[in-house]
Amino acid sequence: MALQTAHELARQLEQGSITSVALTEATLARVESVEPQLSSFLHVNREGALRQAGESDRRRADGTLLSPLDGVPIAIKDNMATRGIPTTCGSRILENFLPPYEGTVPGKLAAAGMVIVGKTNMDEFAMGSSTENSAYGRSKNPWNTDHVSGGSSGGSATAVAGGQVPVSLGSDTGGSIRQPASFCGITGLKPTYGRVSRYGLVAYASSLDQIGPMSHDVEDTAQLLHLIAGHDPLDSTSQNVPVPDYPALLKEGSLEGRVIARPREFFETEGLDGDVRKTLDDAAKKMQEAGARLVDVSMPHLKYSVGCYYLIATAEASSNLARYDGAHYGFRVPDTKNIVEMFSRSRAEGFGPEVKRRIMMGTHALSAGYFDAYYMKAMKVRTLIKGDYDKALEQADLILAPASPFPAFSAGSRVEDPLAMYLCDIFTLSLNLAGYCGISIPAGFSATGLPIGLQLMGGAFKEAELLQAAWQVEQLLGVVGTRQPEVCAAAG
Ligand code: GLN
Repeated sequence: MALQTAHELARQLEQGSITSVALTEATLARVESVEPQLSSFLHVNREGALRQAGESDRRRADGTLLSPLDGVPIAIKDNMATRGIPTTCGSRILENFLPPYEGTVPGKLAAAGMVIVGKTNMDEFAMGSSTENSAYGRSKNPWNTDHVSGGSSGGSATAVAGGQVPVSLGSDTGGSIRQPASFCGITGLKPTYGRVSRYGLVAYASSLDQIGPMSHDVEDTAQLLHLIAGHDPLDSTSQNVPVPDYPALLKEGSLEGRVIARPREFFETEGLDGDVRKTLDDAAKKMQEAGARLVDVSMPHLKYSVGCYYLIATAEASSNLARYDGAHYGFRVPDTKNIVEMFSRSRAEGFGPEVKRRIMMGTHALSAGYFDAYYMKAMKVRTLIKGDYDKALEQADLILAPASPFPAFSAGSRVEDPLAMYLCDIFTLSLNLAGYCGISIPAGFSATGLPIGLQLMGGAFKEAELLQAAWQVEQLLGVVGTRQPEVCAAAG
């Protein structure tokens, strides 16, 4: 099966050349055939998907379709509550956990008639950049399975890049949609904080987390965002801002006269891979030729973003993860003598090493005597970083940056060194601290054939403008659809 986009499949469904049941059967067969190579999924929703597909075909026959993507398969990162479908968050502590309720976003997909194929692999509690922190093994990069898929939404990225599903959802706290998208040669959008409901998204760092689409192209991103965006009374941080018709607006923009800021700090970073730099420089040139004006700006506080992020994210995580105590739900060590032993042994055995490290860092940053020096200071720095974004976006419509300093690294090369892993997100996490929107699109390949992503960022609720520009750049670069990973070719 070739790599097909959701909008292409939607067209075939509309023309009647396929049915949703046939498409879903082919999708499930494809998932099964490449899963041993990719390990994208933690759970495949075979029966549920076929039932949803049947319902979609009936709606089509009755003329009661629910959305343009009715009947199209999708995979969901395993940190979104899906009623009756296991939701493990990549952790032993939630092994076999069946949510008793449906998260808002999975509910919206179902209400749009999409077919939920399964739940994808991820770093435990979304903490990581490679899926090597998953309690269930790592996902493998379809372009070279010795390399990581990126993370934490690595399974959602490999499922799309490897042709298992046309689209998926990820979540992005510090880069977890954009970085795996860039590693796997697909498109990934982090919406503005408050654009998409977090109700039913297992909380990692509540002031940073946001769900977003992962897809082959920007058109699919626009379609999916349109389905999942909007105010939700069940999430007090979701904003009541009208949702533009992203797909309808998508092709109406132009790069002519667009001002694009190129922050020095993103391009003069030590350790920026040569192929990444060249790919970004070539793309910038093409954007200029198409009429965009690139301005070099400085965002001086970006250099504090890794430290600032890892204080705030771990502080919030230490509080959010307090609920996993063996008492309420999830894993519990049996036969303990008292409640304290039950709590501590359930947590000790249920959480993996990276999650424990983060809980300790966050608890330390919040503890009496250190709170002002660490957490409060990080909050002040966060304001300065947001100020840098505001200043850059006063001068420019968008900001250009690499998505990652390097293409996908080889498995095992960073997992023993937490700091080396944390530095992977140097180009993505400041945007979460600011709360704004950003997208990574495929921009080229390294000399060794690994994908390279380009990141564009925009201000609060500027997704329509961001998607328009990203679509223009996508056309300009002409990378999407030109190559496919070997696992796809092999599967035919
Ligand atoms: N890699 C970053 C972290 O480990 C970002 C993860 C994410 O966006 N969920 O925190």
